[in-house]
Amino acid sequence: MERLIVIGGVAAGLSAASAAKKLKKDSMDVTVFEKTGYVSYGACSEPYYISGIVPNPDDLIEVTPEDLEKKRKMHVFRRHEVVKVEYDKGMLDVLDIDRGVVSTHPFDYLVITTGAIAKRLGVKGEGMNGICTLRTVEDATKIKASASSAEQVAICGGGYIGLEMAEAFRHMGKEVTVLKKTAQMLMNFDPKMSSIVEEEVRSKGVKIITGVDILSFEGDNRVQQVITSEGAIPAQTVLISKGAVPNTSLALSFGVKTGKTGAIEVDLHQKTNLDRVYAAGDCAEAHHLILDGPAYIPLGTTANKTGRVAGENIGGLDTGFWGIVGTGVSKIFDLEVARTGLSLDEAQKNGLDAYATTITHGSRSGHYPGGSPLYVHLVTQSGTRKLLGAQIVGREGAALRINTLAAALHAGMSVDDLYHLDMGYAPPFAPVWDAVLIAANKARKG
Ligand code: FAD
Repeated sequence: MERLIVIGGVAAGLSAASAAKKLKKDSMDVTVFEKTGYVSYGACSEPYYISGIVPNPDDLIEVTPEDLEKKRKMHVFRRHEVVKVEYDKGMLDVLDIDRGVVSTHPFDYLVITTGAIAKRLGVKGEGMNGICTLRTVEDATKIKASASSAEQVAICGGGYIGLEMAEAFRHMGKEVTVLKKTAQMLMNFDPKMSSIVEEEVRSKGVKIITGVDILSFEGDNRVQQVITSEGAIPAQTVLISKGAVPNTSLALSFGVKTGKTGAIEVDLHQKTNLDRVYAAGDCAEAHHLILDGPAYIPLGTTANKTGRVAGENIGGLDTGFWGIVGTGVSKIFDLEVARTGLSLDEAQKNGLDAYATTITHGSRSGHYPGGSPLYVHLVTQSGTRKLLGAQIVGREGAALRINTLAAALHAGMSVDDLYHLDMGYAPPFAPVWDAVLIAANKARKG
C-alpha cells in the first residue's frame, strides 16, 4: 500500500486527498493532518457567518470529517500539526495539539497545502485582545464574539475581504471605520471603478479614512482605540486585513524551493522540486496566462483546482493546471464587484503598452423596469488590440458577466473578437447591445 500524507485540510488539501483516493481506492492509504479544529470549510463564507447570514460555523463545512472517513475512506486528523519533515527518510512528525504528543508517520507522497498567513502590521499593542485577523473558522468565531460586545469596529485595510467585512459588521449594527494607507480602496482596480465601490461603502454608513498610517493600538486588557497619523479612532474590535503571504516555512525547512513570488514553485502537475512532493492552493505559485510567468493570487477557485491536479497526478493520471488570469468577484453591500486579467497599472508595470476604456450601460433593456447601471472597464493592448483585462461593477449582472471576459482572456481574444460575440439577449437580462459589447466597440476604436 502506498502512503500519501496531505498537510492542511481545507480547499486544496481535501481536493488533493479526494482525487488521489478516488483513483487509487485500494492501493493508496491517504491521511490528512490539519492543525485547526475544522477541515473542508469554505473560508469565503466566513464574513456571512460573522454577520449572521450563515447561522453556524458548522454550516461552513462542505464535507464532514465523518464522511471523509466513512465515504471517502481517508484518515483525517484535526488539531494535528505537522512540525517536521525528514524528506530523505520519508518520515514526518505530527504534534497532537490537545494531547501534546508527537508521533512519526511514514509517507511515499506528500502534498503541501499549508495555505497562507494573514499579514500583520508590526506595530505596538497589536497582540491586545480584540485585535484579529481572518483566515480560519476559529478566527471567524473569535471575531464574531469580539464584535458582538463592541460598539465600534475598525478595519485596517481596504481590499475585498476588508470591505466584505465592513458589510458584515454593519449588518451586526456596528459603527465601522475603514483605515487605508493608500488613497484608494481595492488597489488592483482602476481608480474610477474603485471610487464607485467607495461611494457605495460610505453610503451604507461606513467611515473611510485613506492615506492614513496606523501607529499603535491602545487599551487595557482589550483594545479601545487605534492610534493613527490622523488621530485616535475608537474601536473595541479591530480587524487587520492587509492581505496574506504564502505559508512556506515548513516546506522551506526540508528543501522545497520557493519562486520569485515567495510562494512554492510548482510545475504543470503541481510538483515541487522534490520528487513525490506536490504543493497546491494558497501556499503555491500559479502560472499567469497573460504575463506568461508565475503569480501569487490566492483564491479558492485556484486552490480547489490545483489540489485536484496534484491528487490526480499522484493517482496516476497525467493532468495539468494550465494557469490563471486572476478572476475574482465579490459582493460589497449592494454592489457586485468583479475583475479579471490585468489592470492598466499592472499592464504598464509589466512593460505592456496598453490603454483603458470605461463605459456605463444599463443592465436590462431601457423599457424593462428594475435595471441599473453597469460600469465596464476594459484594458486593451495597443497595436494588437488584445484584451488584457476587465472590471465590471454594478448592482446586478456584474459578477457573472466577468466570466465572459475571463473566457475571452483564456482564448487570447482581441476587443474586435469580443465585439463580435453572439451574446444572449432578452429585456429582463440585458439590452440588445450588452454592456460588454458596448465596451468592446469603444475599445476597438482605440
Ligand atoms: P487554507 O484555506 O489556508 O488552508 C490551509 C490549512 O492548512 C489551514 O487550515 C491551516 O491550519 C493548515 N495548516 C497549515 N500548516 C499546517 C501544518 N504544519 N500542519 C497541519 N495543518 C497545517 N477565494 C475565492 O475564490 N472567492 C472568495 O469569495 C473568497 N473569499 C474569501 C474570504 C475570506 C474571509 C478569506 C479568508 C478567503 C477568501 N478566499 C476567497 C480565499 C480562499 O478562501 C482561499 O484561497 C482558500 O481557502 C485556500 O485554500 P488552501 O487549502 O490553499 O489554504
